[in-house]
Amino acid sequence: MGWSIPIGSVKGTEIRIHLTFLLLLAWIGIAHYVEGGAQAALEGVVFISLLFLSVLLHEFGHVFAARRYGVQTPDVTLLPIGGVARLERIPEEPGQELVVALAGPAVNIVIAGVLFLLLAGPMPAGSTEVQNPGVGMVARLATANLFLAVFNLLPAFPMDGGRVLRALLARRMGYARGTQVAASVGQFVAFGLGLLGLFGNPILIFIALFVYLGAASESHAVQLRDAARGMIVDDAMVTEFQTLSPSSTIENAVDALIRTTQHEFPVVDGAGRLRGVLTREDMIRALRERGPDAPVIEAMRADIPVIHHRRGLDEALRILQEGRLPAVGVTDGAGRLLGLVTPENIGEMMMIHGARPVQRAGLR
Ligand code: ZN
Repeated sequence: MGWSIPIGSVKGTEIRIHLTFLLLLAWIGIAHYVEGGAQAALEGVVFISLLFLSVLLHEFGHVFAARRYGVQTPDVTLLPIGGVARLERIPEEPGQELVVALAGPAVNIVIAGVLFLLLAGPMPAGSTEVQNPGVGMVARLATANLFLAVFNLLPAFPMDGGRVLRALLARRMGYARGTQVAASVGQFVAFGLGLLGLFGNPILIFIALFVYLGAASESHAVQLRDAARGMIVDDAMVTEFQTLSPSSTIENAVDALIRTTQHEFPVVDGAGRLRGVLTREDMIRALRERGPDAPVIEAMRADIPVIHHRRGLDEALRILQEGRLPAVGVTDGAGRLLGLVTPENIGEMMMIHGARPVQRAGLR
């Protein structure tokens, strides 16, 4: 994620702080200072930091639950609206998703429980909440953790509650249909939050928008994967395209861009093997920065994976989505390039899939 700085790592998961979060800390400090002086500023910043430590522990609840199922988590980012743990993939086994989703809010409930126990314990003689600001802060932190647990369990993507709902529905009606229903419930909840926001706290409108968009994109990605299941790469790959050779220049690539409707050009060597892919964006950037005589091999993306043409289309789609790649190469048994799978041609295939009455019946 851009605009975030790494502050450390725990067991292979990097912890990053978004710059806007540091701005929030500064703003809280200044606002408290203006109102109550240095002591209040310190307390405000300490409280927000502890609150975000709770959010971080929540995210690590997800991280360690996901590890149990072999899902890696490259990083956790702290934003002013909460934390985001980037999972390599979401487990599609409903039981596993349920455990991973519940692990985050469970951490907050445990924190709240421990803090309330501390508060209920014997207090130093003569101290009351007014005299001891520490006691007040512990109570507020415990309440905030309870709120975090409840808020995250709202049944709306991308909140944890949305995933819990999807996992429960998926058991009865299958993953794709379960996601669709959970996404609709999420958008309904988002609408309600937005309405509340109009009459009360404007931050709710912002959260509602976030929830609405999250629900829509989750539903789309899952429908795509569901349609791809049961098909092989052969059924969907592009086979008619212009290729470039490792000795081609940016000028040659620009010619090809203008003569065709293609946006991604595979660079293929004499043995028919894929060396990389040059996208339109790469091409324009190289033209501006290095001129028309630069070799394409220095401007292309060389990290393009290949997949055998008889493999499942859902696998190709997963590779595309996880790597945010412009294309995946399709090869025969000897490793020669036969075709390409791109996000655009998968999108077209989806439109066709949706329009065919027989196949649509099969989706249910
Ligand atoms: Zn969570």
